[in-house]
Amino acid sequence: MANKRDYYDVLGVDQNASAAHIKKAFRKLAMQSHPDRNKDHGAEERFKEVNEAYEVLSDPEKRAAYDRFGHAGPQGFGGRGFEGFGFGGFGDIFEAFFGGTRTARRAGPQRGDDLHYSLTISFEDSVFGCEKEVEIVRTEVCSVCHGTRSEPGSQPERCSVCNGTGQVRQAQRSIFGQFINVTTCSQCRGEGGIITNPCPDCKGQGKERKAHKVAIKVPAGVDDSIQIRLSGEGDVGRNGGSPGNLYVTLSVRKHKFFKRDGDHILYELPINFAQAALGAEVEIPTLDDGFTLKIPAGCQNGMIFRLKEKGVPHLRGHGRGDQLVRVHVVTPQSLDDKQKKLFKELTKSLGETTLPHEDKSLFDKIKDTFGGGA
Ligand SMILES: [Zn+2]
Ligand SMILES: [Zn+2]
Repeated sequence: MANKRDYYDVLGVDQNASAAHIKKAFRKLAMQSHPDRNKDHGAEERFKEVNEAYEVLSDPEKRAAYDRFGHAGPQGFGGRGFEGFGFGGFGDIFEAFFGGTRTARRAGPQRGDDLHYSLTISFEDSVFGCEKEVEIVRTEVCSVCHGTRSEPGSQPERCSVCNGTGQVRQAQRSIFGQFINVTTCSQCRGEGGIITNPCPDCKGQGKERKAHKVAIKVPAGVDDSIQIRLSGEGDVGRNGGSPGNLYVTLSVRKHKFFKRDGDHILYELPINFAQAALGAEVEIPTLDDGFTLKIPAGCQNGMIFRLKEKGVPHLRGHGRGDQLVRVHVVTPQSLDDKQKKLFKELTKSLGETTLPHEDKSLFDKIKDTFGGGA
């Protein structure tokens, strides 16, 4: 078993080679080294070597065992005999004695990084939804070398340390025979090849930073700080890994009149003493259009009117919140002579004192308003 050549090297194929590829390589080499056709010194040895390699690599089970344990795998233990020890198979025995498999793999697929974007939208856009196109800079596969990292037309050179397999096998003796310790090749970092002519565009990185336009659909009813995920719009993955996601965090601008409370819209309405006392019809803005609010005579400061279904559409499900209109009775700060005279007359008429009134809860102040739209 000592100094045995790697079976993949014997057949001159990659470790990921398909069964058909292995068969093809075997046929070619077997023909070249067949003792009937080749009388060269060593041809017979070579023929045997090729046959042995093919015997293992053409059998999926033996090949898997070889991939895991090297030459000790398919024949070193003889499989059945080992199971007689009461272990489940190669894997168990290996792990039992060595505390884990020592198989190294080529650098595996790695998911691309997630990207984050901050999008500021208007209050109206948050309420009714919108579609925005944003430009992000992300890592994509290099468009010149298509990720091969080599200058187009050139090939990576086969790594001389691992012979292109990406793995280095070292024999290790034990009471059960020889184990093969497999480690990732440090020369080529498991890639099997060394780039000698790096792609001039990406400097051999295989990827490039690129501006990319992404359409973002903002659903109706979103609120500040909500995050939207765009699957697969992040950085490209490595070694065939899937791309990352793009996370868009929304920031909603303040509105001139409206404040938001969940799915309800708050609107503060200033009215004067006369309107409060006598009642009035006041035009107020809503999210959709306008609304004529009928204020009853004797309206108190802080009274709240509810305009049903004039609020924000529910993000999940149907329907909308309400618009709440809170009345502020504004005390005039500058009066002309005529107005002063009128207030004095009013004072005389109403008397100097007022009775203390019951303190009503906020809930009692809400008046439901139906219809009467502008
Ligand atoms: Zn490139
Ligand atoms: Zn190597």
